[in-house]
Amino acid sequence: MGRHTRARIDLSALRHNFALAERQAGTAEAMAVVKADGYGHGLEPVARALADQAGRFAVACLEEAERLREAGIRQPIVLLQGFHDDADVATCADLGLEPVIHSDHQLAALENAAATLTVWLKVNTGMNRLGFAPEQVEARVQRLRAVGGVTLKGMVTHYACADDREDPMTDRQNDMFSALSARYPELEFSAANSAGHFRVDSPRFHWTRPGIMLYGATPMIVESAAELGLRAVMSLESRLTATRVLQPGECVGYGATWRAARPTPMGIVSIGYGDGYPRHAPTGTPVWVAGTRTATLGRVSMDMLAVDLTAAPHARPGDRVELWGANVPVDEVARCAGTIGYELLTGVTARVPRVYT
Ligand code: PLP
Repeated sequence: MGRHTRARIDLSALRHNFALAERQAGTAEAMAVVKADGYGHGLEPVARALADQAGRFAVACLEEAERLREAGIRQPIVLLQGFHDDADVATCADLGLEPVIHSDHQLAALENAAATLTVWLKVNTGMNRLGFAPEQVEARVQRLRAVGGVTLKGMVTHYACADDREDPMTDRQNDMFSALSARYPELEFSAANSAGHFRVDSPRFHWTRPGIMLYGATPMIVESAAELGLRAVMSLESRLTATRVLQPGECVGYGATWRAARPTPMGIVSIGYGDGYPRHAPTGTPVWVAGTRTATLGRVSMDMLAVDLTAAPHARPGDRVELWGANVPVDEVARCAGTIGYELLTGVTARVPRVYT
């Protein structure tokens, strides 16, 4: 049907990856991070697929949490950036959402709202995006505890460098956060993102927050997803639309950036940056064509790209192409394009149908 460009989503791989996160969490629990439309995989189908495994979900914003409630998700939902608008406190209360409180502005909104809800407090241990410094925490705990109807569930912090095993920053962040967890034994604590899951010596506290690992991409700088035991969830697929043989001296694509040095069989694939395939992917980016690993040629267009068929001379129009997935890790394509798997997965555009298996 149509041009056969689609993102095939393997929900059993998603569940496999969550089960790994659960085992790694040990006595802690893993809350499933499904923000940014389930990292591009589709918020509702991803959440429903994990609904009988995950005890909590985490999203970035209210709109995502509302969609989860509409989809029938009953678990507590953590709003990782809390609420952005004071008027949203009432919606958080109505929907049973758990905002993360990171600013005095939000605290004042809670004091004025007279709402009944559960909140988390964000501690800044070094990321320096959001949250209170450890020495500011006690005063905020007191303020929160004085607000009628508000229950302080626990504290969260976020690692800045856990993807790099050599970086000492994660240990420093853990030390600060551990000291707080000792001071407030009645509260629950959450620090580890996916990279934290793969640091065996890192404390798990009460809740971990795996995101990218659930979708089968690596959170680490060095280790591949396969080495970490993760299975790719998304296969970005298309078909060959046309084939031709380029003669020596002929070029392909905008800017004529690639020129054939010898007779070169090549194919045109119906996918481009209008679908979220990165325009920055250079000649040589791996791609899987008709069961063979080969590579792109020239510049990526909005709706098309060219591939080298030297290794797949048998390939014909209509043959399946995998841009990333089980055969070509999204992290490899990302590295070629100078980015990370997160950006590619969340960047697949609405034009690409998600097909669930
Ligand atoms: N926790 C917070 C606060 C986040 O912002 C994110 C994602 O950026 C995560 C957890 C999940 O991180 P990752 O996808 O690296 O596992």
